[in-house]
Amino acid sequence: MKIIMLGAPGAGKGTQAKQIASAYQIPHISTGDIFRANIKNKTPLGQKAKEYMDAGNLVPDELTCDLLMDRIGQDDCRDGFILDGFPRTIPQAQALDQALTARKESMDFAVNVDVPDENIIRRMSGRRVCPNCGATYHLTALPPTKAGTCDACGSELVQRADDSEATVANRLRVYHEQTQPLIDYYERLGILKTVDGTQPMDVVFAQIKAVLGKELEVSNVESRCD
Ligand code: ADP
Ligand code: AMP
Repeated sequence: MKIIMLGAPGAGKGTQAKQIASAYQIPHISTGDIFRANIKNKTPLGQKAKEYMDAGNLVPDELTCDLLMDRIGQDDCRDGFILDGFPRTIPQAQALDQALTARKESMDFAVNVDVPDENIIRRMSGRRVCPNCGATYHLTALPPTKAGTCDACGSELVQRADDSEATVANRLRVYHEQTQPLIDYYERLGILKTVDGTQPMDVVFAQIKAVLGKELEVSNVESRCD
């Protein structure tokens, strides 16, 4: 099963992608997480990506596409994967299609988590992340058990640098200009599924399961038979 998560920054792509990855037993690939890991490890890629990310702009396609194609070529992606934050431009989508066509494969679904801009601002200002294990929380919608502390690993939670109000405004502008056209792109390919991302997280997950339903049931039956 090969799935793309589409949606504005803060729509809940990562939140849902983690659950889907666990339900389907496929890797969750977040280009944002990969860039952040590179920044943390002070790699040359991280140094290049940081200036774009801090400003709320997209990292150039030539840096992003090679990284993603390399990742989906790894062994753990043989039975599928879920992409979170890629593609973000039409050239990225075309590069992905070409790479998969060369492997005689194609994407199965593009799930668009639809959330209006006014909800996005609230989501982003309340997002808190664990710099150690990557878990994501929200001050009101998904608070950790102990304020400011990661439930999973006990580290101190932080606000992402690019979740500041000014940067969020630019990220939304960039989303509408460069990423939103992908909704039509995947509609034309016949694989677009849109869900109402303003609902509570468990309701959104149930909607996604319903649209992917058949395949999920099949994969569950197969895993029970193993
Ligand atoms: P994205 O990966 O699209 O940038 P996230 O999954 O990180 O978005 O979610 C952004 C913020 O909104 C996080 O703080 C998350 O806990 C919260 N969130 C995600 N889904 C919902 C939802 N359905 N309702 C309320 N808050 C949500
Ligand atoms: P995310 O974690 O998905 O919100 O991504 C955080 C930031 O990483 C984005 O604002 C971009 O600067 C950069 N980024 C992540 N994925 C991509 C991509 N596919 N193309 C370009 N930039 C990206």
